[in-house]
Amino acid sequence: MSSTAGNVQKRPHAIVIPCPAQGHIHPLLMLAKLLHQRGFFITFVNSEYNHRRHLRSHGPSSLDGLPDFRFETIPDGLPPSDADVAQDVAALVESTTINCLEPFCELITKLNNAAAPGGPPPVSCIVADGAMAFTLKAAERFGLPDALFWTTSAGGFLAYTYYKDLMEKGYIPLKDMSQVTDGYLETTIDWTKGLKNFRLRDFPAFFRTTDPNDFMLNFPINETNATKRADAVIFNTFDALEQEVLEVLSSSYPPIYTIGPLPLMMNHVQEKSLSSIKSSLWKVDFECINWLDKKEPESVLYVNFGSNAVITAQQLTEFAWGLANSKKPFLWVIRPDLVAGESAMLPPEFVMETKDRCLMSSWVPQEQVLKHPAIGGFLTHSGWNSTLESIAEGVPMICWPFFAEQQTNCRLSCVEWGVGMEIDNNVKKDEVESLVRELMDGEKGKRMKEKALDWKRKAEEATAPGGSSYLNLDKLINEVLNK
Ligand code: UDP
Repeated sequence: MSSTAGNVQKRPHAIVIPCPAQGHIHPLLMLAKLLHQRGFFITFVNSEYNHRRHLRSHGPSSLDGLPDFRFETIPDGLPPSDADVAQDVAALVESTTINCLEPFCELITKLNNAAAPGGPPPVSCIVADGAMAFTLKAAERFGLPDALFWTTSAGGFLAYTYYKDLMEKGYIPLKDMSQVTDGYLETTIDWTKGLKNFRLRDFPAFFRTTDPNDFMLNFPINETNATKRADAVIFNTFDALEQEVLEVLSSSYPPIYTIGPLPLMMNHVQEKSLSSIKSSLWKVDFECINWLDKKEPESVLYVNFGSNAVITAQQLTEFAWGLANSKKPFLWVIRPDLVAGESAMLPPEFVMETKDRCLMSSWVPQEQVLKHPAIGGFLTHSGWNSTLESIAEGVPMICWPFFAEQQTNCRLSCVEWGVGMEIDNNVKKDEVESLVRELMDGEKGKRMKEKALDWKRKAEEATAPGGSSYLNLDKLINEVLNK
């Protein structure tokens, strides 16, 4: 807080609203903590569904917050449910887009009415997920700045912006679903500036439909277009990693602030009281850290497909035998809702075969796991948080993208950044085995590890005092959120 010419300036109050899914809540909460550390009063908005889930996982007082870091809820508009499962992404974003504007505006009005000298200040800015662009209407109504935080890679965002051109040129949607497997997706697109020689399959997977009115095909087109009306665009990335993409974007979007990797930026948050505020919707199993402590350096493969991916029982079995046959120790996270259907049992022979070198868990502290010296590689679904967390810790990856812009992150990891190897979508145990061996013992794996360490150093530079991400956070605050 500062005073100018006898006027005491009001404390800035940011209302921070993620798209209500794990991979979005986590980065938005990190940014909220960074803003709090810089003097902001924070209201963090959860969906009612996620709020209840969080309390069930972490206890009734886990979202009490602090006097100046508060949690509020709005409904997500979906039918009420107490099931602890990942919500259907398409249904969720369609529902929030249609239903959340009015509850969000009512919340801002409520917060403003409760503002009092010495108490909570009125809301002075909105920090919203890029997938919650309806908040731009609230910003216009209340005369507030709105910074849209895209929790994708900048490359993923750029790939979404090309959906419109791909549609106009007749590449998407598909003519027939057989195009998914008949070689059509290998078509090279050579006119997408910033995304060199991308094949159709490297673009975010939502175009894999034959319905031109499909909500998830049109949603990215609408949201990336709406982003042009934002006061700022935020990415959880760093300049050195995505320089060219960022240059392409900067000519047609509002000022862009790259402030990542956020997990490294969090090293600057000293407030102990904030560390008790968790973002995870699952109960976290810390036992794996003790298990890792007993393993040799870089000997363990970490396997995790994030919070949303759902695989078939057949795919589970292929992964299981591929991992078993690699003979490497591995830590495998299998969420209770990871496998579709009821027959999600691992074969007893697999359990017998791997019991001395495998640990299964349902949800782990991933950043701590990736930091652990025993981890030698990461078999990932290429979600952006997972990819960036891996890069920030210098861990090379095997990529098995599932949906959304994970395909793009996989392409960037494997081709542009040299830190990944892709597994065919139609996963087979022999390929899993040979890629795991290559990653952990092979020449290619060694080169990928060196590359990953290189990016780790650059990520550390970007987030150190004076680095690009460090300075960009200051600029975001001074130029947009609290100008
Ligand atoms: N995560 C975690 N423990 C797990 C699985 C995931 O802490 O067992 C975290 C992970 O660190 C990341 C987020 O959940 O921050 C997943 O986000 P990502 O973008 O990688 O994928 P999504 O879940 O959105 O598909």
